[in-house]
Amino acid sequence: MNLQCPYCSGNLEADDSVIGGRARCPLCGRKFLVDRTGAGLKMDELSVICPGCSGRIVLERRNIRGKKACPCCGRHFIVAAPGKAPPPDSTPAAAPISAVRNNIVNACILAGVICFIIVCAALCVYLLH
Ligand SMILES: [Zn+2]
Ligand SMILES: [Zn+2]
Repeated sequence: MNLQCPYCSGNLEADDSVIGGRARCPLCGRKFLVDRTGAGLKMDELSVICPGCSGRIVLERRNIRGKKACPCCGRHFIVAAPGKAPPPDSTPAAAPISAVRNNIVNACILAGVICFIIVCAALCVYLLH
C-alpha cells in the first residue's frame, strides 16, 4: 500500500501490516502513526471519521476533547477518546427502570394491604352480626 509521510510528505510504499500501528519514514527517518484508513499521522495527531460526511479529520491528540466542527460539512460532533469507554449515556438508563419496578412493587404491596383491610373489615362485620 501507499502512504504519505506526515512530516516530509514523501510518498512511501509500506506493508499492509503497518495499518493501525507505527512506521518509520525512510526519507526523513522519523517515526509516525498509521491510522485505520492507512494514512500517516504525526505522533501527536489522531484521525477521526466525521459522522456527517464520513470525511477523515486529523486532530491534535491534546486537542480532542469537546465539540469539533468538521471542515468539510461543518457538522459538530464530539470525539470519543481512544481506548476509553463510550460516554456514560447507558448508565443513567438503569435508574428509571428500577424506579418503575419499585413503583410496581409498592403498588402490589399497597393493593395487598388494601385487600387485607377489606377482608378484615368484612370479617368484623360478619362476626358482629
Ligand atoms: Zn518522512
Ligand atoms: Zn463532515
